[in-house]
Formats: sequence, C-alpha cells, structure tokens
Amino acid sequence: MVDLHTHSNESDGTYSPEQLVRAALDLGLEALSISDHDTFAGYDRAAPLARDAGLDLICGIELSTRLRERPGTHGITVHLLGYFVDGRPDGSFRSWLGELQASRRDRNVRMAARLRELGIDITLDEVVALGRSQTGRPHFASVLLRKGYVPTIQEAFDEYLGEDGKAYVNRIEPELAEAVWRITLAGGVAAVAHPARLRTGADGSIESLVGKMCDVGLMGIEVYHSDHGPEDELRFLELARRYGLAPTGGSDFHGENKPGVALGTGANGSLMVPRTVLDELRDRAAKRVSENGRPASGETAPTQAARLP
Ligand code: AMP
Ligand code: ZN
Ligand code: FE
Ligand code: FE
Repeated sequence: MVDLHTHSNESDGTYSPEQLVRAALDLGLEALSISDHDTFAGYDRAAPLARDAGLDLICGIELSTRLRERPGTHGITVHLLGYFVDGRPDGSFRSWLGELQASRRDRNVRMAARLRELGIDITLDEVVALGRSQTGRPHFASVLLRKGYVPTIQEAFDEYLGEDGKAYVNRIEPELAEAVWRITLAGGVAAVAHPARLRTGADGSIESLVGKMCDVGLMGIEVYHSDHGPEDELRFLELARRYGLAPTGGSDFHGENKPGVALGTGANGSLMVPRTVLDELRDRAAKRVSENGRPASGETAPTQAARLP
C-alpha cells in the first residue's frame, strides 16, 4: 500500500515532514509522497530522513489551477498534482512556485480583511502564526474554530472560506495548461487531483473536462482518494483506461486540519492505494526521460492558441 497525496505543516497540514515519515514507516507504507500546496519545503526536509530510514519518498506538489472552457469566462478551479518534479536542476519550476506563493500571500491579506468586514475578530498575524512557510485556508478555518465562530473546520469552509462562502476571495491561479506544461518540462508527471470534486457547468461532464485536460498533456488521474467511494474509483479507473492516463491515489492527509482522514487508509479506513499505481507512474516518468526528457510539446510555453479553446 502507498499514499501519494499528503500535506505537511510546510503547507496546510499539521504533521511536520519528520512526523509524516515516521507515521508512514509505522504504518508500513511502501511509499509516501509529500504533495504540499505550492511548496517543496516539506519534501526537502523529509528527503534525507526518508533516505536514512529506507522509505521510498516521492517528490510531489499540488497546484490550484484554472480551467476555462471558453476564453474570457471565469472557469473552474482544478487541483493538479505533479510527481517527480525534481528531475531538472535548473530551478525554474521552483522560482515559478515563488510567484504562486506571492499571489497566495496577497489572497490571505484580502481574506483576513473580508472576515473583519464581516465582524470577525481575526488578524492575519494570528493565522500566519499557525503555519510555517505558508498560510492556507485551513489555517483560517482553525482560527475560526478556536474562537468559536464555527463548530467544525468543515463549517468554516461552508460558511466562510469555500468557493460559495461569505469571505471567499479569488487568487491568481495559473492556467491548467501552463501548469501541466511546467510540470512536464521539469521532468514530472501531471495528474488531476480528486476529480469527484470538479465542478462542471450544467451542460458539462467530468468526462469531457478530463478529455480537455488530456489535450494539454495531462498524464494521470487520481482514482483513489478519501473523497471517492467505490463507484467513483470504478468510474475514474474506467476514465483512466479510456484516455490512457496513469491512475494515482492518496489520502490527502492534513493531520488535525482534516479530522477523519487518516494517513494511508483515508476516511473510515476504506482507502487502499495499490503499489502498482506508483510503479506505473514511475514507468511513465522514466519513459519520458528516455525520450529525451522533454515533453512532446517542446520547450516553448504553450501559446494562447495551444491552450484550451
Ligand atoms: P488554499 O490552498 O489555501 O486555497 O486551501 C485549499 C485547501 O483548503 C484544500 O487543500 C482543502 O484542504 C481545503 N478546502 C478547500 N475547499 C474546501 C471545502 N469546501 N471544504 C473543506 N475543505 C476545503
Ligand atoms: Zn490542503
Ligand atoms: Fe486538493
Ligand atoms: Fe491535497
């Protein structure tokens, strides 16, 4: 069993990278990926420990991207996972992450102001104090919970922080096509995260959205996830086969910031991500490297025309 989707306290989880490695070993996981939002800080800290302990640790990242079906529309948020993004030493992917982190900080300033407008006693400083290198919405949720404004983390999202919440503010999200391209160029494999959470328009289906993602180079789909039931797994496995995508999977463990989701076994202990998933993902990455290490689309950024229609 493996877990290819976890968050450390370098993004919005509560376990330190050291604790994650320890917990993975205690559980007997065959491999672990730390896939923090917009940062490799957790992976970087865990890598030497995992090496010493003999744990197969996979470099991962989770990016919030925007998919527009038509230019000029607002589009939808798509969480994109990138695996093996550490293949290229030139650092351009990491410096791009710096830009995403800046837009996140700007969003946080506006979100704190919006909450205060709603009469909530909250400062950005107290939210930031809960994180290490990065502040996310689960940190806001924690403060709202601690101060008694909401009874659970989930209600903090439902009422305030989620996309339909009273205090939701947008941040600049890269286009899905650009993010896929950058992951691929950095030697990685891009996979769409928790597809059950994709919000399709009234006339759209998840299947057709995933088809559009494939057109811009998507290589994997998260079949196994804490939010997915057995029907979801079958549906997305079938979709993976149809589009030739590598199935991926993980718990999306966030420690105390997502109560009820356990490392490895997910919600209600019902998750089991088979090791073959990692073998196939590795195969894909290795094949690409042997094909010159370059994405099929070449080394230039996707032009507007090459992006989604
Ligand atoms: P951020 O990257 O700061 O925008 O926060 C994103 C994280 O917030 C996700 O990884 C989830 O853990 C959590 N999250 C986002 N939307 C919801 C929601 N509607 N309900 C519960 N958690 C959510
Ligand atoms: Zn998160
Ligand atoms: Fe996500
Ligand atoms: Fe996640």
